[in-house]
Amino acid sequence: MLEMTDQALGPPGPVLVTGGNGYVASWLVKRLLELGHDVHATVRDPADPRETLHLEAIAADSPGALSLYGAELLDPLGFDRAMTGCEVVFHTASPVIGRGVRDPMRVLITPATSGTRNVLEAVNRCPSVRRVVLTSSVGAIYGDAVEIAGTEDGFFNESHWNETSSENHHPYAYSKVLAERLAWEIAGSQDHWDLVVVNPGLVLGPALSTYTTSESVRIIRDFGTGYYRLGVPKGRFGIVDVRDVADAHIRAAMTAEATGRYILVAETLSMQQIAAILRDRFGGAYPFPRRTLPKFVAVLLAPLAGLKRSEVRRNVGYPLRFDNRRAATHLGMRFRSPSGAIVDHFQQLIDDGLV
Ligand code: NAP
Repeated sequence: MLEMTDQALGPPGPVLVTGGNGYVASWLVKRLLELGHDVHATVRDPADPRETLHLEAIAADSPGALSLYGAELLDPLGFDRAMTGCEVVFHTASPVIGRGVRDPMRVLITPATSGTRNVLEAVNRCPSVRRVVLTSSVGAIYGDAVEIAGTEDGFFNESHWNETSSENHHPYAYSKVLAERLAWEIAGSQDHWDLVVVNPGLVLGPALSTYTTSESVRIIRDFGTGYYRLGVPKGRFGIVDVRDVADAHIRAAMTAEATGRYILVAETLSMQQIAAILRDRFGGAYPFPRRTLPKFVAVLLAPLAGLKRSEVRRNVGYPLRFDNRRAATHLGMRFRSPSGAIVDHFQQLIDDGLV
């Protein structure tokens, strides 16, 4: 949780958040505005109230000022105007679709990589920027849970890179590892700004907009809609609260000594544990899963869930552990418990009429 004072953060200067209407970015914009920053935020269409109304409402109640800009990741010159005068660029925009993608190159890989190139080349042209914080993912750290057997101590850490995802196997993770590698390459070829990367696990917690389409919302919603009526596989997620992810971005920007990559995972929970947390809090009103699917059934059913059989085979039934000590020691992160994120997330879906 963010405990720093405005003073510790230094004088608020203008900052840019790409994809400012996104699930994670909306919380980041909110925190920055609360801290008094002038926030430049890009959205795809600033004339679409579904992308902007919640941000404008937050800005109206905050000391910071919000300016909205239209920007598309594929546009090489799309980010220059929004970036002018900014000291920090938070590059969060990237497509987040975990399953059922028919054309991964067009839908995920090209926007993630071209977008990262376009944003960072705009940074190269913008003399005021001194730091870029990139929202990567644990998907850039590892490809499949089975790989944990090859780690030195049974934990994934920031020295690990996903070397097994591809266009046909976890294309979303592939888009994230390619984009992060590209960001390090571009950062390494200049010396007017530095790069700090955050690698969140599955981000959970309430969304600030009912129009949020992030995979995070779908994952929790599925627990309450009967999607898992046959049961849940023995899969695990490294979970982090969306409010902590926003705070970690700010700490990554404002901590002078921050460097490299930071895994953001509070704890790893099984799908059975997530279901139990929801059942304990919301009782029998929703069809939360009770049964565990045997692995062979989960593998068999994978295509129905928009997943490859190999993706399920290499993840179900394996432990998943992350070393989050860098974020704790360098950034001072004290992660909230995932159960609070899960409960608040589902409550918000109820309040918004989405379950
Ligand atoms: P989100 O709500 O879907 O946000 C993604 C943002 O990227 C949206 O603003 C989206 O705009 C924008 N975007 C996508 N394609 C674009 C394009 N071609 N041009 C311009 N903007 C585009 O997802 P999120 O969960 O907040 O994810 C934010 C970041 O966190 C991503 O980089 C993601 O990889 C990373 N991350 C997320 C999680 C998680 O569990 N959610 C975990 C680890 C890392 P539209 O709203 O117009 O589509």
